[in-house]
Amino acid sequence: MPERVAPAVVPKRRRRARPPPLAPSCALFLDIDGTLLDIAATPDRVRVDGRVTGLLPALARRLDGALALITGRSIADADRLFPDIRLPIAGQHGIERRDAGGAIHRLPAVPGIEPLRRELQQLAADHEGLLLEDKGETLALHYRQAPRLAPHLHRTVKAKVALARDARAWRTQTGKGLIEVRPDGRDKGTAIVEYMTEPPFCGRTPVFVGDDRTDELGFAAVEAAGGWAVKVGPGPTHASYRLRDVASVLQWLGGAANAPASQRGPED
Ligand SMILES: [Mg+2]
Repeated sequence: MPERVAPAVVPKRRRRARPPPLAPSCALFLDIDGTLLDIAATPDRVRVDGRVTGLLPALARRLDGALALITGRSIADADRLFPDIRLPIAGQHGIERRDAGGAIHRLPAVPGIEPLRRELQQLAADHEGLLLEDKGETLALHYRQAPRLAPHLHRTVKAKVALARDARAWRTQTGKGLIEVRPDGRDKGTAIVEYMTEPPFCGRTPVFVGDDRTDELGFAAVEAAGGWAVKVGPGPTHASYRLRDVASVLQWLGGAANAPASQRGPED
């Protein structure tokens, strides 16, 4: 099953401007790993910077609640990272979504994950340095500590998905140091589109900040809706803007969270 990378061809790298100041009339969507937090060797070793836990509630207030996290992690895992903050979150690339009222929307479970789970568990057991992250509805095989295995793992996982009983119900997608298997039909872009139909997001200008290939679907969604996409770090992208690294993201967001109420962005 081919990967879905939006849309068609990712353009060659070219210089992208730093994004303008975030306006209070925006709806803000933020990826977590590589965007708000620096990536670690394994997902459970990520360190949560105290600046982020202070920044998110301030931003939510500034945007009248129109702030959501859009992540490949499960909602439960994201809540463990930020135990004192209860934000709207789309987890597992949009397969599960907590709206602004706290209700959970979940894609009905796709049957047939069990054989894939067993095969990927075996694959992880057969090679040193691999970690299988089982998120329930999605499976991520991390090879950050065994990068030479990448070509073999990509070939093997794609072949296993192609041979699965409900092959068309599944997608493979690559991320930084991982290959992931997830049900088809939801992604970071569809999660953002769903939020934009609901208060307090609807009627605002959507802004999405992310760092990885899976975020390109979110970038396409916000730009199609007249919003801004912000790519974090190097690499080809559809996003119109770029920030260099996590520190630059936090600095940019900090400027918005701390701006006086009278300071308006370009949209106002
Ligand atoms: Mg990321």
